[in-house]
Amino acid sequence: MRTAVISILVAVTLFSCLRKEKNATLGAADVRFDAYKGRFIESMLALRPEMAIGLGRHEYDTAWSIPDDGYRTKLHAWYKAMLDSLHTYDPNALNPGNRTDWQILTAECQSGLWYLDTLRTFEWNPAQYNIADEVAGILTGTYAPLDIRLHRLGVRLQGVAAYYAAARSNIIKPTFEHTLLAIAQNKGTADLIRNDLIDSLKHSSLSPEEKEQIFKRAESAVTSIDDYVTYLEKELLPTLKGDQVRSFRLGESLYEQKFHHDIQAGLTAKQLYEKALLRKAYLHQEMFRISTDLWPTYFPGTTPPADTLSRISAMIGKLSLKHVRPDSFLVAIQQQIPQLETFIREKDLLYLDPDKPLLVRRTPAYMEGVAGASISAPGPFDKQGNTYYNVSTLENYSPEDAENYLQEYNNYILQILNIHEAIPGHYTQIVYANQSPSLVKSIFGNGAMIEGWAVYTERMMLEEGYGGNSPEMWLMYYKWNLRVTCNTILDYGVHVQGMTEADAMDLLVKQAFQKETEARGKWKRVTLSQVQLTSYFSGFTEIYDLREALKLKKGSEFRLRQFHEEFLSYGSAPVKVIRELMLNK
Ligand code: ZN
Repeated sequence: MRTAVISILVAVTLFSCLRKEKNATLGAADVRFDAYKGRFIESMLALRPEMAIGLGRHEYDTAWSIPDDGYRTKLHAWYKAMLDSLHTYDPNALNPGNRTDWQILTAECQSGLWYLDTLRTFEWNPAQYNIADEVAGILTGTYAPLDIRLHRLGVRLQGVAAYYAAARSNIIKPTFEHTLLAIAQNKGTADLIRNDLIDSLKHSSLSPEEKEQIFKRAESAVTSIDDYVTYLEKELLPTLKGDQVRSFRLGESLYEQKFHHDIQAGLTAKQLYEKALLRKAYLHQEMFRISTDLWPTYFPGTTPPADTLSRISAMIGKLSLKHVRPDSFLVAIQQQIPQLETFIREKDLLYLDPDKPLLVRRTPAYMEGVAGASISAPGPFDKQGNTYYNVSTLENYSPEDAENYLQEYNNYILQILNIHEAIPGHYTQIVYANQSPSLVKSIFGNGAMIEGWAVYTERMMLEEGYGGNSPEMWLMYYKWNLRVTCNTILDYGVHVQGMTEADAMDLLVKQAFQKETEARGKWKRVTLSQVQLTSYFSGFTEIYDLREALKLKKGSEFRLRQFHEEFLSYGSAPVKVIRELMLNK
């Protein structure tokens, strides 16, 4: 209890400093704009209740947006109206915090219209229809007693049939890959209701009548999901041949536009791609140097291969043999979290809130399919909710695949993964974002800032001496950094330049030293997402460049902890927006 009070005080002190600064320059336009931002967010949540639930606004638990034409027309009109009202403000008359919020809201509306009018994923991505997030959010939430949550879920389940009916009529010319994903994920959602919901129902103290009513609604919801899956699997999938199948590759024009809306970087996609090619060459050079130095230690009395990639590959192969056993993967991760916390406190790298626990768990079935490890965090309206570190288990892997996977996540890389996903990466960033004085920046999280921060912390931790500055750790870090660099090269290559699966495997396995399992997973991911894979490299380079610019500007006044805390205090805004705030102070 005592620690709780102390940490709240520290947090309040930190953020009231920021508030004071903002209030000092609060003019009439800012007062008006602050009120406007509140109206913007509230009207948006009313229109997008599923987003509201995800953000922790549980009065929307029973509300739906059924994704039909009528709904899209309403959404379109709302974006237009909001853009018009945003243009009644002169951004230059607002203080820096509000000016950047204005930029973020304007970009959000433009992006929303572009998705509806141009990208039109609702027509070609059957996997965008899935009710799992809301069901799981309500079912596992800690914001209300189980009986209340189950009651609301019972009401909510009545909308499932209409939702999947709309989904079915939206789909025109889907991609083969997204259809397969929709089948797999919705099967997981049906299981979630069949198992977890029914199980919770048994443990509740609702009346037998209400239990029976919710049970029936759950059964019919499962039927609607099963029908959707059967339609995709039996009717749609066999027709996805020749002209009837849309390519998962976006093409240059759509790709540049999506990059512009999703990443909001200072560069074009093409420029970032060219930067990534240069970075790859640099990393190869550094890795070759370290491999050469380490050679006599790990391969005494032998001559190293003359070829650069072969020499690096041999050294990485040797170091990758140091890994945990398949059944202790989850436990190893659980044990490392406190070690990272201790290092950060000892080095005074940033404030960590001891009150926000991180729970490591195996990835729930309805989320399986894309990434190996991820963070599920409560939204800014649900600050008391749990944060989970989801880790995929290796139970369904063949012994050979499991060995491959574990060599990829060897003892060195596993530590870097935990820095990235947990501390001080994603988990820490989310804790700060939820306390940001700007709700706009918390809600409209910029993916490149979020991923860029996690990638930046890997390098920062090593620079501060995590891993004892050993050449082995640096070599493996470079390999990991090569991965995000190649994510950009792969994504642009596949979606814009038509890179084949064989060329992609060559890039990932030969040039980026990845295991087959990892590379195959990455290929699957690049066929299902577009642009997202570039966010890591884009955010990383922008944050690193900002830090170096601030070091130059502040000289001996520069403090790393202060840089981290201030950077994170602005919430998940695009790095170029934070850059403007931090450099022009
Ligand atoms: Zn990440």
